[in-house]
Amino acid sequence: MKVAVIGLGNMGAPMAANLVKAGHQVAGFDLVAPCPAGVTCATSAAAAATGADVVITMLPNGAILRAVAAEVVPAMHPGAVLCDCSTVDVESARAVAAQATAAGLGALDAPVSGGVGGATAGTLTFMAGGSDEAFATVKPLFEVMGQKAVHCGGAGAGQAAKICNNMILGVTMIATCEAFALADKLGLDRQKMFDVVSTSSGYSWTMNAYCPAPGIGPKSPADNGYKPGFAAELMLKDLRLSQQAAEAADADTPMGKLAAALYTSFVEQEGGRGMDFSAMLPRFEARGRG
Ligand code: NAD
Repeated sequence: MKVAVIGLGNMGAPMAANLVKAGHQVAGFDLVAPCPAGVTCATSAAAAATGADVVITMLPNGAILRAVAAEVVPAMHPGAVLCDCSTVDVESARAVAAQATAAGLGALDAPVSGGVGGATAGTLTFMAGGSDEAFATVKPLFEVMGQKAVHCGGAGAGQAAKICNNMILGVTMIATCEAFALADKLGLDRQKMFDVVSTSSGYSWTMNAYCPAPGIGPKSPADNGYKPGFAAELMLKDLRLSQQAAEAADADTPMGKLAAALYTSFVEQEGGRGMDFSAMLPRFEARGRG
């Protein structure tokens, strides 16, 4: 297929590289980042999108996505699909899909889970919103870049799945970290805490697969000085998106709201920027109730 990838950062570059490896013809554009080997570098987003069957965007936020979509939609040929893989607000995803559909294009919001490691290894999970036709067109590319693609529903359903998942993730990480900090103060050995909780009803992905305590459980960013991994500021971005969506939809999400507030303090006032999101554990360790 002829594919364009716009946004060749930490995620977009390895995704584009995997498409090249699988034999697709890939044009790329980024304001700053270089094109990976095998990707034809275009001089603008519109130039990259011209002639492409699928245009993949992997951008920082909804405002940038809207600006890029305004540029690429007029350059795309009817029947081509605009597939946004960034994590953005549901409203921007729906607005861009409406614009693309009105221009005779297919549209998907298809954010990913799996991080830079998954993008590099081609093992991402895609959660997609859009029409059956658009999903079927892009599916072979999802199979190259990832190990699983779930068609979640219409426009915006992919972003909805992503922010709901990550709201659970943020809340659960905080719960796991505060429980470890309490266990420490109660004199409970961390390994024993892990052995019990990881096989009891408190188990979770954050405890069992990404344990925030160094030296406990499988290897995780905690074993690497809390170098990300999944940076605290990206967790904060996703928690803010979930709160924005909850406000728009009048959903009561008190735990998500508190998680967003805690990650805001952590990132903006407590040195959490640039740390993995599991560095909430040393934060709790250093604090008392006051
Ligand atoms: P990144 O900042 O490394 O890459 C974004 C790229 O977009 C940058 O290279 C930037 O120069 C480029 N860009 C910005 N404006 C542009 C424009 N107008 N035209 C062309 N290029 C432009 O970010 P990333 O880590 O690759 O993340 C991309 C998206 O994926 C984000 O929405 C993020 O939330 C999401 N995501 C990231 C991860 C992760 O672990 N990094 C995991 C899941 C989802």
